[in-house]
Amino acid sequence: MTDIIKDSNRLFIGNDVPTDYQNPNSNLKVHSVVKPLTEEEVIEVVKYANEHNLVIITRGGNTGVAGSQTPFLGNEIIIDLSLMNKVIELDKETMTLTVEPGITIETVQKYALDHGLMYAPDPASKQSTIGGNVSTNAGGMRAVKYGTTRQSIRSLEIVLMNGSKLVLGSKNIKDSSGYNLKDLFIGSEGTLGIITKVMLKLIPKPLYNVTTLLAFDDEVIATETVINILAKGHIPTALEFFDKESMKYSEKLLNKKFITQKGNAYLLVTVDGNDLNTLNNTLNQIHDISSGAVEKLILTDEEAVDAWVMRDYILYGLYATTKFEMLDEVVPINQFAEIIKYTKTLEKKYDVKVLNFGHSGDGNVHTIMIRDNFTDEAWPAVRQGFLDDLYQEIYRLGGLISAEHGIGVYKQEHFLKNTPKANVDAMRAIKQALDPKNLLNPGKIF
Ligand SMILES: Cc1cc2nc3c(=O)[nH]c(=O)nc-3n(C[C@H](O)[C@H](O)[C@H](O)COP(=O)(O)OP(=O)(O)OC[C@H]3O[C@@H](n4cnc5c(N)ncnc54)[C@H](O)[C@@H]3O)c2cc1C
Repeated sequence: MTDIIKDSNRLFIGNDVPTDYQNPNSNLKVHSVVKPLTEEEVIEVVKYANEHNLVIITRGGNTGVAGSQTPFLGNEIIIDLSLMNKVIELDKETMTLTVEPGITIETVQKYALDHGLMYAPDPASKQSTIGGNVSTNAGGMRAVKYGTTRQSIRSLEIVLMNGSKLVLGSKNIKDSSGYNLKDLFIGSEGTLGIITKVMLKLIPKPLYNVTTLLAFDDEVIATETVINILAKGHIPTALEFFDKESMKYSEKLLNKKFITQKGNAYLLVTVDGNDLNTLNNTLNQIHDISSGAVEKLILTDEEAVDAWVMRDYILYGLYATTKFEMLDEVVPINQFAEIIKYTKTLEKKYDVKVLNFGHSGDGNVHTIMIRDNFTDEAWPAVRQGFLDDLYQEIYRLGGLISAEHGIGVYKQEHFLKNTPKANVDAMRAIKQALDPKNLLNPGKIF
């Protein structure tokens, strides 16, 4: 490997591997960490791994929450793509931005805005990378109106485990030319290939956005309001739900109070467009629909930024102060209130504190199981019972185990239990065809 990466700041072998690349819950150690600067270096590392039968894990921003970027086997090569972080081309006519995979979402969003354009996907983890976002099909706040990462990808360059390269998709808006291989790699969690270049779709930056905060005493009324808003034909840019308990974690971390202390559950709604009157009318109509709200605030631009930052920090607040497991379930939008209600029945049944926050406009909620009151010995049985019940109900309602985080390792058991065998067999056949030696992130998803 020293022949491929000559710079000692970009290659760490054996005991020289920094600890933050190791699995903190395992004594097994990774083989090495490489930080390529070019696609050619990625190809050479892949060839080396193939020759020596070494497993590869690709890593972007390491913000993944399903365990898919974590080493579990020992002796892996971690390819850290964070140094491949350049903008390659902005094409204003086709409204596309071509980037290297290690660029962060924050940098891409800022770059697009600086050029009067917008990159629509908006995961809360601003230090995650575009390569990671593609590999998990990240969603985030604005998926209600603009879709998940998948809807904003025009083309991908992929290095396969045999060292060959695929160029999938193009600047063309339409494509009915053969199998859609590009979509196969989106959400594949680093198991099929290494993404080395991404062409993103940009959109014109909307001139205005306005935000309202709705507070409810009862979280069931809040969640029922979601479907009422959508059923009236409104398509908000973002429509987030969070309970008061969740917001307390953000308040604690940021050491400041949320804009209101009224109510126990909140909807934060932003609409965007080019006509301010229309947007204000939309918020008025949303207020009329939200008859169960105990407070309806129209936020100034500054208050809106602040409210969204506090929403983004809920998860950071949880990480800073508590032990928990985060879920990522999604249900058809008309079942959103049902699933929130059901999590509360499980809270009582298992005596586990439950919080809920998430992308209610997409039917996607991050249920949080707080495990502070359980010993390490007691927790696995409680967790198992809770998840068995919850996922059974989610699938009964027509939902899925993961909306935007992926399956990784932590959701594998229930994914396999609830997914038709024929579907999993087809996934395994594709994996076998593209990675016959099972060297690329094995043991993830299935
Ligand atoms: C505070 C916080 C908030 C979050 N908010 C959201 C949210 O709002 N919406 C959301 O969807 N997710 C969210 N996440 C989850 C996470 O940020 C996303 O899953 C993100 O897409 C991961 O990107 P990453 O660059 O950190 O990838 P990593 O964590 O490094 O890797 C994730 C997966 O992608 C693969 N991968 C990474 N780069 C490549 C590549 N170039 N080629 C092939 N495979 C690759 C890895 O092998 C792994 O399987 C949040 C996480 C945190 C910690």
